[in-house]
Amino acid sequence: ELNAADLAAWIRRSNELVAEHADELTRLDSAIGDADHGVNMKRGLASAVEVLDPVPDSPEVVLKKVAMTLIARVGGASGPLYGTFFLRMAAVSAGRRGLDLDALVAAVEAGVGGIVQRGRAEAGDKTMLDAWFPALDSLRSGADLRAALQAAAAAADAGRAATESMRAMKGRASYLGERSIGHIDPGASSTALIVRALADVVD
Ligand code: ADP
Ligand code: MG
Ligand code: MG
Repeated sequence: ELNAADLAAWIRRSNELVAEHADELTRLDSAIGDADHGVNMKRGLASAVEVLDPVPDSPEVVLKKVAMTLIARVGGASGPLYGTFFLRMAAVSAGRRGLDLDALVAAVEAGVGGIVQRGRAEAGDKTMLDAWFPALDSLRSGADLRAALQAAAAAADAGRAATESMRAMKGRASYLGERSIGHIDPGASSTALIVRALADVVD
């Protein structure tokens, strides 16, 4: 089970991975966007780590605080989308001391549903959803929490790589039309790091 401390560790690990890859995320966003994704995510996750000290008692409160902080601090298109993701996860976690694999699947499913509802993107539109959808599929078919998360991290990374050949249909990158093809999506890249971070915590 993932308790409040584990979820806080997830956010700390996400912050580490995003800080390590911030220049890369910004470089990807400079090719098909406005060159701020690494800076945005690094700022948001660093703030999220701060608001989790001390770690709140429940998964719901951890996730809600992360959501509010990302909405306030990331900005751009991705801030409200990641904020919605964590807010929906929080709602599904209400009343639980910890998330087992079934609860995690339900929470991530709700979170991804929130991104879809808010951003109206579909699979293949070259967005963060192209990493989230395969990650969610892997979680659903996982045997146990650890195996499911390892598979989800690999699937998110494959999804990230697959965005290279896609044409962007949503967000700034869509303004480039055909010229968005041939570049990996920055948001799919940050999502792959966030999923990897959760796998690392359970490893
Ligand atoms: P901005 O484009 O406003 O500068 P960011 O650079 O922080 O915001 O984030 C860009 C990322 O947001 C994209 O790479 C993409 O993955 C994601 N994104 C943009 N629009 C959508 C959408 N409608 N649905 C899902 N993800 C989206
Ligand atoms: Mg940007
Ligand atoms: Mg921007």
